[in-house]
Amino acid sequence: MTFTDRGSAQIALGDDHTVETVSTECRQAATAFMSCVTWDKLDLAFWLTGPYARAVRHARRLERVATLETPPAVEERALAELLTSVHDELLAALIVASQHDGALPFADEVALLAHVRKAVDADGVPVWVPVDLPRMRLVDRVRALFAADYLNAPDAYLDLSVCGRCNTLVFDGALKRLGRCVAHMRNSVIVPRGVAEAGEADEAGVA
Ligand SMILES: [Zn+2]
Repeated sequence: MTFTDRGSAQIALGDDHTVETVSTECRQAATAFMSCVTWDKLDLAFWLTGPYARAVRHARRLERVATLETPPAVEERALAELLTSVHDELLAALIVASQHDGALPFADEVALLAHVRKAVDADGVPVWVPVDLPRMRLVDRVRALFAADYLNAPDAYLDLSVCGRCNTLVFDGALKRLGRCVAHMRNSVIVPRGVAEAGEADEAGVA
C-alpha cells in the first residue's frame, strides 16, 4: 500500500485489502473499544497498538508506537473518566442509529473533518479508510472507525442494535427484533425466528 501525502492524493490499498477487509477491521476495532469502561492504561495501549493500529494502517502519517495520547502521568481516575465519556457519547449515537435504520448520526461530520478518506483497492473499487492523525481526540478516532465501516457497509447498519441488558452492539436482524445480544438470548425463552412480538415473550421469559 502507498500513502502519498498532500491530503488530497488517493490512497491505493494493497492486493490483500478490499472494502470487506477494511470494513471488518474497522468494525472489530470499534466494537472492541466499546468494552473500554473497565480498561486501564495497559488495556488502552493494547487496543491502540493492536486492533486500532491495524484498522488505520492504510492512512497513517507516523509509525504508531505504544504511547498514549494522554500524558504519561495521567491518573487512572482521569483515564476512567475519559473512557467512560467517550464510550457514553458513542453508545448514545449508536442507539440513535439503531432506531433510525442504521443511519450513523456522526458519519457526515467525520467525513467533513476528513477523519475518513477515500481509497481504492487493487480493482479500483472505492473504499473508505479511517485516518490516524497525531492530535486526534480519542472519540474522533473511534468515530472514524465506525464511520468508515458504515460508509463501506451501510446495509450492515440496518441490522444494528444495542442489547437492552448489556449494551453489546449486535449486527443481526433477528437479534435486533428481540433487542438482545447472543449471550442474553441464551437465557431467554426460545422464540421462533421472525416473530415481531418476540420482545414481549423474551421479557416474560427472563428470570
Ligand atoms: Zn446482552
